[in-house]
Amino acid sequence: MTFSKIPTPRVDPVTGKTYYTREDAMNLSPQQYEEWVYSNKTTHVNEVRLYEQKFWNILLTKSPPFLPLLFWPFVIYYLITPMTFLRFMWICTGLLLWFPMEYLFHRFLFHLPVVGIRSQKFHFFLHGIHHVAPTDLWHVFSPIYELGAQAFLIWCVFNILHVPDPTALISGLLINYIRYDSIHYLIHAYTPDQIGKIPFAGNYLKQCAIHHRQHHFSNPRKHFTISFVSSFLD
Ligand SMILES: [Zn+2]
Ligand SMILES: [Zn+2]
Ligand SMILES: [Zn+2]
Repeated sequence: MTFSKIPTPRVDPVTGKTYYTREDAMNLSPQQYEEWVYSNKTTHVNEVRLYEQKFWNILLTKSPPFLPLLFWPFVIYYLITPMTFLRFMWICTGLLLWFPMEYLFHRFLFHLPVVGIRSQKFHFFLHGIHHVAPTDLWHVFSPIYELGAQAFLIWCVFNILHVPDPTALISGLLINYIRYDSIHYLIHAYTPDQIGKIPFAGNYLKQCAIHHRQHHFSNPRKHFTISFVSSFLD
């Protein structure tokens, strides 16, 4: 690949923050693009400005760092509505189903093969941004409408499969998703040593942090999960 085409970070003259734009990503061929987003030699930036206007950039690519907290009222409301044994079993199934989904979504959707202009655009929006700007804490969680689209897709699949209680199943998934993405946030906001000081779960969380940092900074084509820290499983 021609290294001259590798984008150099732009600097905001006012804030001094570094950023890449949509053009930086889209001027590369698919092969160059994949090398660029996944290479540990790529210079990481403070943020990506997919849209020139700040308003659209925030609305369409950013997500508040407290997003998972907003889901709790829905989960709690659902959990205190009349609970049957069957419903409880479906929630537990959702909790367990999360783990393969955590792997499969990241491995096959977020790291989809980039083969042309459309997949390149889609990949950059979906996951490329997080790989070139891993410290942008307003982009650790997906934008709310993107999460909504994923939830709707899953709900449709459950309905097609005639799952008896799709909402209970999704509640289970959601609880585990909140846990997962909250850990993901901690990993990008703090160092593994800082995370290790968290009471009770510190040791495990530190392992998660080290594992996910390997995905970002040494081998992005491996270590797709955050919950599994064993090198045997992932
Ligand atoms: Zn990450
Ligand atoms: Zn990734
Ligand atoms: Zn791993």
